[in-house]
Amino acid sequence: MMIGNTVQEQLDNFMDGLKRRNPHEHEFHQAVYEVAASIIPFIFHKSVYQQANILERLTEPDRIITFRVCWEDDEGNIRVNRGYRVQHCNAIGPYKGGIRFHYDVSRSILKFLAFEQTFKNSLTGLPMGGAKGGADFNPKGKSDREVMRFCQAFMTELYRHIGPFTDVPAGDIGVGAREISYLFGQYKRLANEFTGVLTGKGLAFGGSLIRSEATGYGAVYIMQDMLKYHQQTIEGKTIVVSGSGNVAQYTVEKAIELGGKVVTMSDSSGFIYDPDGIDQQKLDFIKQLKQVRRGRISEYASEFKVKFYEKQKPWSIACDLAFPCATQNEINAEDAATLVKNGCLAVSEGANMPTEQAGINLFQQSKILYIPSKAANAGGVAVSGLEMTQNSMRLSWSREELDQRLRKIMQDIHDKCVEYGKQEDGTVNYLKGANIGGFIKVADAMLAYGVI
Ligand code: GLU
Repeated sequence: MMIGNTVQEQLDNFMDGLKRRNPHEHEFHQAVYEVAASIIPFIFHKSVYQQANILERLTEPDRIITFRVCWEDDEGNIRVNRGYRVQHCNAIGPYKGGIRFHYDVSRSILKFLAFEQTFKNSLTGLPMGGAKGGADFNPKGKSDREVMRFCQAFMTELYRHIGPFTDVPAGDIGVGAREISYLFGQYKRLANEFTGVLTGKGLAFGGSLIRSEATGYGAVYIMQDMLKYHQQTIEGKTIVVSGSGNVAQYTVEKAIELGGKVVTMSDSSGFIYDPDGIDQQKLDFIKQLKQVRRGRISEYASEFKVKFYEKQKPWSIACDLAFPCATQNEINAEDAATLVKNGCLAVSEGANMPTEQAGINLFQQSKILYIPSKAANAGGVAVSGLEMTQNSMRLSWSREELDQRLRKIMQDIHDKCVEYGKQEDGTVNYLKGANIGGFIKVADAMLAYGVI
């Protein structure tokens, strides 16, 4: 039962309890607050959800596994990292969610990501639960062999907790095609099974077409839907993108294909501003730079004679559309205010939780179109779900078939946001719509199972 006589009291009491039970986990508090602020008003008069204590149950992960990962670097030093898998909720399908290798990975970050993943996966309409994993391993500057040894050591522990009907990990920051291949090879060796236990696999061993493109394309497709619903298009719009990894690259690719002009990309060292716009040929340079040479974005500035802004984020550049595609909390209140002041019309989040709560509040007050990550970047995990389907059927769909399915899934997510987020004044609160739309299916499955 929620405690309190008003929505605000219930929200305050709920957040106090959550913070007490999960001290110092700021990212987790932030992600839960963002959802609870939509869900508590929604369930205020719905006693079935209240009596079953659904929200409290949904903010306690099913289990968290942490483990030591011991590996040897190229100099023969023994290195130790901490590995995790947060299995958050399997109410509507096997646990599903990426693995992140980054030096700032912590229990709080993985709990926020696994929590978000549960609602995101529900929004796709596919049968997938929510999970996330990773390690505080920094792949930057490591040789291929070091990465291989790390992945093998990581999987040696993880393999006993996952399986095609139990938990199906995938990539995230720091885990791309190379890492998934090493992880899959080690799983196959240990389990002596060739199954769809990971997604984002290479095409030669059970991977799906469109998986690499899916998150970025999806973030643009849903922007297209959101603009269309408000009688606008992407064509001719000036676009600011942050990041230069997988999500950013394919966001830029689809945005320019649809006639947008993308003027920025970034990495942790700064951003480039190309006022003429990044075209497909310049994007190919970025893909080569980031996927093959693993170099820095400043090389783009030297190659194409544009300005590089060291240690800065791109939000000061005036734009019509913004796609944060780097990482969590990359847009603070000041950045959000700058975007609004410069006339930004719409924001689609390619990264997970890139906007701080104060920034979200500003976007919502100014009534710009803001679609949160759990809806906007769900295309990636959606095509992971389609990879699982293809693995189960032991066949592969064509690029066209998969792209059409992705397109339709993004449109359905958009429509779900409108269904649950339409306000009395006719505007759409996409955040509320995504949260409620993702919540209902999971909550109803939990109700059906009784007390477990
Ligand atoms: N890491 C991605 C996400 O944040 C993809 C997860 C997956 O494909 O399972 O949704």
